[in-house]
Order: sequence, then structure tokens, then C-alpha cells
Amino acid sequence: MIIHIIKLSILLLIISVHSMMALADSKSNNFINVTYEKPKSKKEKAILTDLNKEKVSELVAEVLEEIFKTIDKKPLALVYGDEDGPSYDSRKKSIYIPYDFIQEIKQRFIDVKYSNSGISLNDAVMDVVMHTILHEVAHALIDRYELPVVGKEEDAADSLATMLLIEYFEDGQEVVLTAADLFDLESEDVKEFAEEDFWDEHSLDVQRYYRTVCYVYGSDPKKYADIKKDAKFSDDRADLCIDEYEQAYFSWMKLLKPLLKAQKGDNK
Ligand SMILES: [Zn+2]
Repeated sequence: MIIHIIKLSILLLIISVHSMMALADSKSNNFINVTYEKPKSKKEKAILTDLNKEKVSELVAEVLEEIFKTIDKKPLALVYGDEDGPSYDSRKKSIYIPYDFIQEIKQRFIDVKYSNSGISLNDAVMDVVMHTILHEVAHALIDRYELPVVGKEEDAADSLATMLLIEYFEDGQEVVLTAADLFDLESEDVKEFAEEDFWDEHSLDVQRYYRTVCYVYGSDPKKYADIKKDAKFSDDRADLCIDEYEQAYFSWMKLLKPLLKAQKGDNK
């Protein structure tokens, strides 16, 4: 009888370990777990409604799951609603995007009547949200896979977010251009630079703007010939944008190769 009980408990142990593994596996299929915290105000609630309607986080998660192998058993958490951020917390392996941050973007686009550019308010806000998620995912990938970073990590995060959008997302260039426009709008806040603007871990917003549009131009100079004109890039600078985008693409592909599910092919 005792032997039977032991056998039974071993069996139960095997079943429970197996079910725990199954749970972990099913979770590991998700590259990102998206959580929406309870909104604390009417405005936050409106942002949550927009996020639920547009489902951009889920779209980004789906595309990233198609691109990347999940090496770490624990999926990356993307938490909306926390007060600090947008940020990636390496201890908690989590990305935090506050509703307030999205609200501020929305307000900024409303203030400058951005929808006159032909992009609806909602689309513009969600474009920036997508770029923000991918920027934070870049920090997460650098942290989780100990990717080497030469230069500013913030620049690297911008570079990867832009490259992923351009290469893997439908109308990714347009998403990137909206995010660049936000950098441009933010740069207008600065009437006079302070010392801290120069020692900040981020490049200046105006630099982030030009670098981002430079990549988009470089990714398809024929299609985005207007960028060269609008940004007033010299011929030499415009040519460098083509080289820089190519360099960014190949560098990231080399670094990310062990993490990618399938190579996209050397079509570049
Ligand atoms: Zn960052």
C-alpha cells in the first residue's frame, strides 16, 4: 500500500511538473505579455480605450514573435499605466509605458493640429506608441541577450526601433516618420540649451529627428526623395544616409542573427 502511495505521489509529481512546464511553454510562446493597469482618471481611461481599439501592442507582439526566438523562458512584460516611463526595467524584465505619456503625445498632436497632415490623430498617436514599444524592446534585447553596444545605447535603441519598423512592419516607414515628427515637435520646446541637454543619455531631439528621417530616406531614396528636400540634406549627407541605413541594417542583422527565427534573406 505504501508503495502504491509513493508511486501515486511520484505520478502526481510528474503530472504537476509537466503541467507547470506546459504553462511555462505556452507563456514562452509570447514574446511580450501586455498588461493594462486600471486607469486612474477619465483621460487615462480614454487612452486605454484607444489602445484597446487599435491593438498596436498586440500587433507589435505578434510581429516580434514571428521574428525572434524566445530564448528566455519568461516573456517580456509590457505594462501600461505605471507612473514612470517609458522605460525598460532590467531587474523586472519589464517595459513600462504610462498612460500619461500617451496622453501628452495626443495633446501635442492636437495642439499643432497634426491631423491636417493627413494622418488621423489616433493613427499618429499609435505610430509613436509602436516606435516607443520597439525602442524599449531594443533596450530589453540588449539587456537580455547581452548584445554589445558601441556608442550611446539610446541611439542604438532608436536605430533598432527604426530598422525593425522599416523592415518588418506594413507601412513601417510612415510609422517612423510620425515618430520623427514628434522628435521635431519636442525639439521646438527648447528655446535655449542647458548643459544637461548635452550630457543627457539621449541625443538631442533635433538630432533624433534628423537621424530618424535620414534612415527612412536611406532605406528607399527614390520613394522618399522629398525627405532630402525637406530636411535640406546636402547631396553628400543624403548619400551618407543610404550608407548609414545599410550599415545599421547589416550590423543589427549580424548581432541579432542568433536570435532570429528565420533570416529575412540577403535582399539588401
Ligand atoms: Zn531609451
